[in-house]
Amino acid sequence: MTVVGNRSAGRNGWAQPDHRPAPAHETEAQTAVGAPRTTGASFHDMWRDLAPIGRNTTTNGYRRYAWTEADADCRTWFKEQAQNRGLTYEVDRNGNQWAWLGDPTAGDAVVTGSHLDSVPDGGAFDGPLGVVSSFAALDELRARGARPTKPLAIVNFGDEEGARFGLACVGSRLTSGQLGVAQAHELRDADGLSLPRAMERAGYDPDAIGPDPERLARIGAFVELHIEQGRALADTADPVGVASAIWPHGRWRFDFHGEANHAGTTRIEDRRDPMLTYANTVLAARKKAKLAGALATFGKVGVEPNGVNAIASLVRGWLDSRAADEETLAAVVGEIERAAVERGQRDGVDVRVTRESFTPVVEFAHDLRDQLSGLLGGVPVLPTGAGHDAGILSASVPTAMLFVRNPTGVSHSPAETAGEDDCLAGVAALAEVLEGLACH
Ligand SMILES: [Zn+2]
Repeated sequence: MTVVGNRSAGRNGWAQPDHRPAPAHETEAQTAVGAPRTTGASFHDMWRDLAPIGRNTTTNGYRRYAWTEADADCRTWFKEQAQNRGLTYEVDRNGNQWAWLGDPTAGDAVVTGSHLDSVPDGGAFDGPLGVVSSFAALDELRARGARPTKPLAIVNFGDEEGARFGLACVGSRLTSGQLGVAQAHELRDADGLSLPRAMERAGYDPDAIGPDPERLARIGAFVELHIEQGRALADTADPVGVASAIWPHGRWRFDFHGEANHAGTTRIEDRRDPMLTYANTVLAARKKAKLAGALATFGKVGVEPNGVNAIASLVRGWLDSRAADEETLAAVVGEIERAAVERGQRDGVDVRVTRESFTPVVEFAHDLRDQLSGLLGGVPVLPTGAGHDAGILSASVPTAMLFVRNPTGVSHSPAETAGEDDCLAGVAALAEVLEGLACH
């Protein structure tokens, strides 16, 4: 298996030769009606075109934040993919993009897709692999001459990662009503710009956002293909797996209030240093999570006044925590909070904890999951700790996920990688699934 990724590969993220130009006989008009092309060629062409968008040349990571220029370029790419294939292109009231084969209003549609935005310095595969594979799988179906009896659609959900406004899956949450309009108006980026204003600046109507039950009612099944963000498949012979569940997870903001003072003149015993309380809380989080078989991470921190020679007045740390069940998660977060408060009392630091988001456990539709596993010849069925639009949608429509093997398990990093053969196996599996769900 060839392993390729940002770090080892060329500009487009693949070790493949910087992809060959389309043969002269393959005109745009031919591909537009789905002229037979190999799945690999279709996949590589799309991957190559998408690869440079929003990539930071210093870190080699992606910075495709919602409603920015890089995001707009990704969205233009999606629109072109839809139009090149003669698909019906739509943007819904929440800015999610859709490409339809068949009548969008007919109902019982089979929908696939993922997202194109990224975390700060994210990898090439988280999100885009699902969207690119969706178009490639559709090409594969057309090349096979498959005849869908149901509408098929590909979706790009907006703002999945929450990198800019701090809340993940905004596009799918708004659509499903899991994020209220008033709450969406409260979301602000680091510059204080609200989500509606950011959407407006990107050319979208912020007054339109809100629940979209009519759109959800069109969907009979949603399947999201995604790179695995762990190593469950890494040591198996299977390049593709089916998801069983998504662990419950949430984000908590810890505010540690101390007292700013001079680093050179303030006696140790006179200090109220929130950095100490914060540091101790980070260690406690690791310990409590490990003991409970859960996960707890402080990956983002803000310090005021943020001076080298000043004791901080405020340290603000964000905790991300996940566990197999909600009881365990609540217990772990509770213990971390208690540890923070106890340590804060010793340091003269006031601790306040705010839950910023919470996503309950998601059990994917068992019928659909079993159907997919059957269509793919009994591939592994595995849970994940990562949230996805599929998890949000599962409350409204039958939903399933396919995972593509990640040899290192690394994700949310420029080093995120996947084998080329595995990615194409993912496309083939998705094509099987779409054919099984929509063509019989
Ligand atoms: Zn993702």
